[in-house]
Amino acid sequence: MTQIPPTLPLRALFDAQYNASRAQVDVPLALRRDRLGRLRSLVDTHAQALAEAVQADFGVRSPQLTEAADLFVLRAGMAQVDKHLARWMKPRRVATPLYLQPASAHIQRQPLGVVGVIGPWNYPLQLTFGPAATALAAGNRVMLKPSELTPHTSALMASLVQQAFAADEFSVVVGGPDVAQEFSRLPFDHLFFTGSTQVGRLVAAAAAANLTPTTLELGGKSPCVVDASCDLEDASVKIAHGKLLNAGQTCIAPDYVLLPRGQEAAFERAYTAAAARLFPTIAGNPDYAAIVSERHQARLNALLEEARARGARVVDVAPAGGGGTAARQMSPALVFDPEPDLRLMHEEIFGPILPVVPYDGMDDAITFINLRPRPLALYWFGADSAARDRLLSRTVSGGVTVNDTLMHVAHEGLPFGGVGESGWGSYHGESGFLRFTQQKPVLVQSRWAMGHLFYPPYGPRFARVMG
Ligand code: NAD
Repeated sequence: MTQIPPTLPLRALFDAQYNASRAQVDVPLALRRDRLGRLRSLVDTHAQALAEAVQADFGVRSPQLTEAADLFVLRAGMAQVDKHLARWMKPRRVATPLYLQPASAHIQRQPLGVVGVIGPWNYPLQLTFGPAATALAAGNRVMLKPSELTPHTSALMASLVQQAFAADEFSVVVGGPDVAQEFSRLPFDHLFFTGSTQVGRLVAAAAAANLTPTTLELGGKSPCVVDASCDLEDASVKIAHGKLLNAGQTCIAPDYVLLPRGQEAAFERAYTAAAARLFPTIAGNPDYAAIVSERHQARLNALLEEARARGARVVDVAPAGGGGTAARQMSPALVFDPEPDLRLMHEEIFGPILPVVPYDGMDDAITFINLRPRPLALYWFGADSAARDRLLSRTVSGGVTVNDTLMHVAHEGLPFGGVGESGWGSYHGESGFLRFTQQKPVLVQSRWAMGHLFYPPYGPRFARVMG
């Protein structure tokens, strides 16, 4: 391992990784597992310190929340990669058509080279170390740029990675949008971005200049469809959990609910009770995360103000005592009768506000979803499997959980990603491994091959072959 000073300018760091990746193209299983193992043990050893750093960044966010919603998924994902890596790396034999026989064919799985990862602040460990771990296991060098909105976490990640890895293997680069812009202009072999759709467009444009392929894990408005056949109390607990986890700052949080018209009062009662059960208090409750910044708090307040001003019914569902504005712990809210042109109904909410949109029949709900950009996630609650299948076959989304929220992200056997404006490319499990892998087709010709039958001159012999 070449020891390279961590203070290298961005371009020099990239060049060091690039040169190392070209000097060692064939990265054996033992080395990949060693790198993955170092990252796994770094996370295990420093889990508490990392969770406390996240807490310091949010102001309020209990280490247990980070353990349950961030570290657990990260660790499960890394364990799964470790378990299956040897099998995923193996070449795949491919059957050869008659006209090419007796050649043989296979697909060789190789590292891409240098992978860049840009991450968001909301789950600052899982969404950064997760793709980085898979990219390392796929044999790549990795440069990671975490969010500037979680400075304690990003600084700790950088220092721990620097202790465990040579800079030309894996490095964490800290900094704000200016560093991020410079980072996204580097000619990576692959650039993996998790963040907003707006910044995703900038990243895709910067990467295009280098013909760098990207994975974009973006956001959007994920609908939650409640069918008339559902158990409303059970559904409300699961919707409240998905919405209020991390105070709604979850990319796959249900953004709005489509509810059979007439069930509004019952849903309001059930959701209010569910919220109080999960979070008996809001102000000072460390399990109920703070809104990450003043700017985001102001944005969410403005969404509610506009909704109120335009005649929507905003219901504060916080238990007695309400939210704590000083600590940016925002009261959960339901918004009934939102006009379709409200910002609340166009922009990703990313906070504990849940608009409720009534529908008259499942076809209305399907049309409502299909008239909007394709969502990252879709949720359906009910017992009527025919209605469920109709909705699933007529809508396109990044992923789906039926009769719960969020949980498809925790299934490592399922690819995770968006579609359309919610992103492109998926990862997790083998799909993640393949995202960071060149699948190189190799045809091994035999000296007895019949290819000469197709050579010119295209005379009568050729006509007989084609005939
Ligand atoms: P963001 O887009 O503001 O920032 C993400 C990262 O991009 C940060 O590291 C930031 O420094 C960097 N960045 C900022 N400007 C940049 C530029 N011009 N060029 C390159 N990089 C730049 O997103 P955020 O606020 O950190 O995260 C919230 C968003 O992320 C939400 O939209 C959410 O839905 C989405 N998200 C998606 C997923 C997913 O898996 N699909 C997961 C979590 C969050």
